[in-house]
Amino acid sequence: MKLDVNALRYLAKDDFRVLTAVEMGMRNHEIVPAELVDRIAGLKHGGTYKVLRNLLKNKLVHHDATKYDGYRLTYLGYDFLAIKTLVNRGVFASVGRQIGVGKESDIFEVATEDGTVLAMKLHRLGRTSFRAVKSKRDYLRHRRSFNWLYLSRLAALKEFAFMKALGDHGFPVPTAVDCNRHCVIMSLVQGYPLVQVKELQNPDDVFDTILGLIVRLAEHGLIHCDFNEFNIMIDDDEKITVIDFPQMVSVSHRNAQMFFDRDIECIYKFFNKRFNLKSEKDEEQDGSESDGEGSSRPSFLSVKKAAGSLDKELAASGFTRKEQVEMEKYIEEDAEGQGSSSDDDDEEVGDAVPIDSLKIDQDRSEEPDCNLASRNSGGPVTFSEEVSHLSI
Ligand code: ADP
Ligand code: MG
Repeated sequence: MKLDVNALRYLAKDDFRVLTAVEMGMRNHEIVPAELVDRIAGLKHGGTYKVLRNLLKNKLVHHDATKYDGYRLTYLGYDFLAIKTLVNRGVFASVGRQIGVGKESDIFEVATEDGTVLAMKLHRLGRTSFRAVKSKRDYLRHRRSFNWLYLSRLAALKEFAFMKALGDHGFPVPTAVDCNRHCVIMSLVQGYPLVQVKELQNPDDVFDTILGLIVRLAEHGLIHCDFNEFNIMIDDDEKITVIDFPQMVSVSHRNAQMFFDRDIECIYKFFNKRFNLKSEKDEEQDGSESDGEGSSRPSFLSVKKAAGSLDKELAASGFTRKEQVEMEKYIEEDAEGQGSSSDDDDEEVGDAVPIDSLKIDQDRSEEPDCNLASRNSGGPVTFSEEVSHLSI
């Protein structure tokens, strides 16, 4: 998706006020009636309507007049709100080139005031399976509203919480820096995804390290669930960093054993194919003798017995059980709905953007974020009572 941060520099306080009003309205409307946006924004003399036209021109909102005159945020609009909040907080000062396009995310470089480069992950749940998401409303029926904003924000919240906890427990993961809405800021990992690596100095050591990580994670009560060559980064010294955590589950999940075995299997398969490492099973099939010293496949049951309680700590950290259940349902059903693509042409993947310093006025358009303690603290912008009590 094109992330043209230039537009951000020209947006005025009122633009952000109206954009934030659309976001607030989306908590209980898929398409927010223009009148409601106007009421929330509270601009004088019909100012909201003029601003909405400007936002539309910049593709920050989408206009929908099918049922009534209404608007919703585009991903770009949501990106801008998150970026502005984080820039105002001093987390970073400029946005650079795109460094990754995941299944459901875009990753950019950002730089702090002092030039430190960090990674910014913008979650885009629903991008690859927008129609599938649309057809699964039933499980979110009880929510006042369901939309990709909510799911993407949940994914970011979860990713940040897990990355932080794993880092605190000594796992090789990026340092979790901050999080707002659907956006996670983390340290930039040097190196490349393992999938791009054709040769290793010590494939056996790397393989053992990776398997050891899966086991150690499970001993802490967690399963990655997407532990594969795309989510393992490796540098020139063959040091491993694991990324991508929104789908992690506890070892007490009902499908934990299947997820654990699948993670292990992915690694065996990849190392077998790419580096010709053989597992015991393959050796038996080949009819070759096992010397009894080959590494035996880690068994979920023996690992689970020793499992710690990082999963419970995380549950207590504010990423609630309910949120976990909603994410899991999405992930499970998403696996069934794979293949359908977004029907929304506002939100396409685009080119990288040059480093461009953002000068943003200091108006705060805060949104409850991943700092769990401050999740319900609003910014100084006041909104009408009707929506200000709603929290996602
Ligand atoms: P997705 O959930 O969409 O798969 P990932 O978190 O796996 O997203 O990121 C997609 C790609 O972006 C990765 O394969 C990697 O190339 C790059 N990437 C992600 N995080 C970082 C980071 N912290 N540092 C450097 N590159 C990263
Ligand atoms: Mg990934």
